[in-house]
Amino acid sequence: TTVPATGEQITAKLSEAEAAAAARAKAKRTPNDFVFGKVIGEGSYSTVYLAKEVSTQRQFAIKVCDKKHLIRERKTHFVMREKEVLMKLDHSFFIKLAYTFQDSERLYYVLTYACHGELLGYLHKLSAFDVPCTRFYSAEIVLALEYLHGLGIIHRDLKPENILLSEDMHIKITDFGTSKILSTDSEGKAENQVEAKRKNSFVGTAEYVSPEVLNNQPANFGSDLWALGCIIYQCLSGSLPFRSGNEYQTFQKIVKAEYEFPEGFNPDAKDLVQKLLVVDPALRLGMAKPEGMKALKNHKFYEGIDWETLPDSTPPKLM
Ligand code: ATP
Repeated sequence: TTVPATGEQITAKLSEAEAAAAARAKAKRTPNDFVFGKVIGEGSYSTVYLAKEVSTQRQFAIKVCDKKHLIRERKTHFVMREKEVLMKLDHSFFIKLAYTFQDSERLYYVLTYACHGELLGYLHKLSAFDVPCTRFYSAEIVLALEYLHGLGIIHRDLKPENILLSEDMHIKITDFGTSKILSTDSEGKAENQVEAKRKNSFVGTAEYVSPEVLNNQPANFGSDLWALGCIIYQCLSGSLPFRSGNEYQTFQKIVKAEYEFPEGFNPDAKDLVQKLLVVDPALRLGMAKPEGMKALKNHKFYEGIDWETLPDSTPPKLM
């Protein structure tokens, strides 16, 4: 007969198992720890694969960057920034960086797999969203921005392509290659000066770029709120507020905040967009201290949103 283990022995065994699991979790992964599947996307400097971790059978999206290509195209700083920011984020509305590793030719970023892809795909499929979906998804973006800005990070390229959707249809924001970490030290100032000098170039996407960035001012938290205004407009109407035959004309409209609402645009959403698409970033809703993003959260358009439980709630069906 086996002698029953004492409580102490069980505790010792359990902590041994825990220690082994922790060691496994900490160990550096290699490409052999994953079975690579189909390509799920191509970026300008990376290929993203669907992959399964052998030991856990969990699915991940693995972003693979060719080192030589990164150096040749001078994109190294983008991947470094992306890693730096992703490592700071710990919120369900953002893609999580589970592991990183490299071999002699490539860098590998193992990311949460957002299996429903880009919000943009749904916008294209449905042409536009109804009010409940626009309210829900833009509210999730508001919460996400509140968290991100709280960490001193500006996304700088917020758009429906960079808002991915998880298994349970909540948002997972991605693409931090052009984001900016605000710092009060000299490094931050130096970066702003470099940016201010980089005339006629901006980071971000033409249709969502803010007037201050076009005017060679450094991006600020308000630049993400401008993009939010564009996204709310786009979700409800199916088209962008600032769009023209060419980029130059688009920029002309942006710097003057010159846009129109289509007929039938929800009045509360209209009021919100009008308070976000304001030329002076300091005057955008959500920017005034001390209430900050609370002013946005209290806007009439978000009446009925329970901000506390939003990440655990069931999203309205996108249809
Ligand atoms: P670039 O950074 O060059 O503008 P990108 O942001 O589109 O390009 P990636 O981040 O490399 O480039 O992603 C490429 C594509 O892969 C994206 O279009 C996206 O839809 C998809 N993708 C990226 N990460 C994930 C993820 N974690 N889950 C699901 N799909 C992803």
